[in-house]
Amino acid sequence: MISTVRGVHDILNQDTPTWQYLEATARRVFAQYGYGEIRTPIFEKSELFARAVGATSDIVEKEMYTFADRGGDSLSLRPEGTASVVRAFINNSMHRTLPWRVYYMGPMFRYERPQKGRQRQFHQIGCELFGPQGPLADAEVMAMVMAFFAEAGVVGNLVLEINSLGCGECRGPYREKLLTFLKANQETLCENCLNRMERNPLRVLDCKKATCGEVAKAAPHMPDHLCGVCSEHFAGLKSHLTILEQPFVHNPLMVRGLDYYNRTAFEVTTDALGAQNAVAAGGRYDGLVAEMGGQSTPAIGFAMGLERLVLLLQQNRVVVPTVTVYLVAVGDGADGAGLYLAEQLRRAGLKVEMNLNQGSMKSQMKRAGRSEAPITAIIGESEVGTKSVVIKNMVNGEQETVAIAGAVDFVNSLIENIKRMDHGADR
Ligand code: ATP
Ligand code: MG
Repeated sequence: MISTVRGVHDILNQDTPTWQYLEATARRVFAQYGYGEIRTPIFEKSELFARAVGATSDIVEKEMYTFADRGGDSLSLRPEGTASVVRAFINNSMHRTLPWRVYYMGPMFRYERPQKGRQRQFHQIGCELFGPQGPLADAEVMAMVMAFFAEAGVVGNLVLEINSLGCGECRGPYREKLLTFLKANQETLCENCLNRMERNPLRVLDCKKATCGEVAKAAPHMPDHLCGVCSEHFAGLKSHLTILEQPFVHNPLMVRGLDYYNRTAFEVTTDALGAQNAVAAGGRYDGLVAEMGGQSTPAIGFAMGLERLVLLLQQNRVVVPTVTVYLVAVGDGADGAGLYLAEQLRRAGLKVEMNLNQGSMKSQMKRAGRSEAPITAIIGESEVGTKSVVIKNMVNGEQETVAIAGAVDFVNSLIENIKRMDHGADR
């Protein structure tokens, strides 16, 4: 028997409704903010990621799936989406039609240690906005992420964390101060931090080791060393978020693992997923387009991990049923009546599964429960005689007998009631 590759999973048909629900919600919410979908290739020249994501980033150093194709070119499976979107921006001269707002969704690949909420093939939905320079754009992007979570019903104590990483002006001098401090505290740092301290001292700030955390807390922090423009930008963002009544936490230790970020960085974290606490992450990358050979264009974006969102929905028992009505038919003539009714319900646009095993009432009802359908329609011998059907609301257990002729209307109004009760039965 051949298994899947480690850290890579099938998403089975009973789970795809939850995925499709999240994807559809993202499409709907992002469209409200003027975003359109972009689909970039799954693999690119390795050089693209080395340059965009950064040669010293964990992703490029340790996590990429890189291979030579038959022509000898070095290619990599995409570990993230922004590099390709920036390449597409430049290749298609999109600087002529700013602002450019795009979103993407699809698989990403990183050679990581698989854990709950951390795979080697995982899925992201991300957005990128090119053009606007000021904090208004940052606030709008954050409002959109949070609107998506609210619309999707993703809960789990979500916290919007923000920070400023400074710019070319102020990050250099800050980096030196930080490095001096870290060198003075060398003996406390973990090996990984010691190794990358010179190349990328900011990463020490978000090391997960407790001892490094203590050093990070005492270290000089970027927000205290911002230049005038960066500091005004950050103040502007905070004031816009306040106007939006969007709660946020300023986390001066948050740095992003990708080298391209400047000024605004943000994450949405949860306390419900253990170590994998980030569900969305992003920031500004004003220098990247120019660095990749395009016309200098400020930009901001973010990506969220779908596996973690699916876990959150499951933990909160937000089930997205594959069927709306489960049809149970038991006894003489019931299967014919059931077959007919199932078809009527489907023609009315409903998702219907009829039990085709013709088992006992008990076993069929058990299957109805397992299907998670919010409504069960039951036809027994007596219903066949009276041309009726028992419609059971599986959310509260109430049931009513109605005429087959009126069943479609009755089911439709019941769905509306359940939606009002449960706010999302059609998920
Ligand atoms: P982490 O700190 O969890 O490794 P990251 O900083 O590497 O995250 P990004 O590259 O910013 O993450 O990606 C954005 C989001 O994509 C993350 O917040 C997370 O939800 C998701 N994500 C990243 N890597 C993985 C993975 N290997 N498996 C599942 N989801 C992932
Ligand atoms: Mg990572």
